[in-house]
Amino acid sequence: MPEVAGQTRELEAFAGAYIEYAAQLEAAGDDADEVTPPEIPPPFRSWIEFLFRVERKLKTNPELSRTLHADTAAGLEALEAARNKFARQHKQCPRCGRFAPRAAGNCGCGQKF
Ligand SMILES: [Zn+2]
Repeated sequence: MPEVAGQTRELEAFAGAYIEYAAQLEAAGDDADEVTPPEIPPPFRSWIEFLFRVERKLKTNPELSRTLHADTAAGLEALEAARNKFARQHKQCPRCGRFAPRAAGNCGCGQKF
């Protein structure tokens, strides 16, 4: 387990930044190099990427969830919480697919919400 495994509040915040970055990248398509990567300390980045891999494995092999270490289970919950928070705070532009803050009146592409 990495030393950051028990720091779930920080993990949730960094996972939120990571999820937002991934969403912006996906939406940007050919303009992906215009998207700035978030600053996430390497131990957290490794831990988040490990948790994403565990999540993918769980989708095809759900019984693995019974053998998870408590820190991994807590990490997966933090990831889920970050994802839900992102969904609550953002909306996706129906025209270009980019994500914008829920309070925004229009998208960068000019589409009004
Ligand atoms: Zn748009």
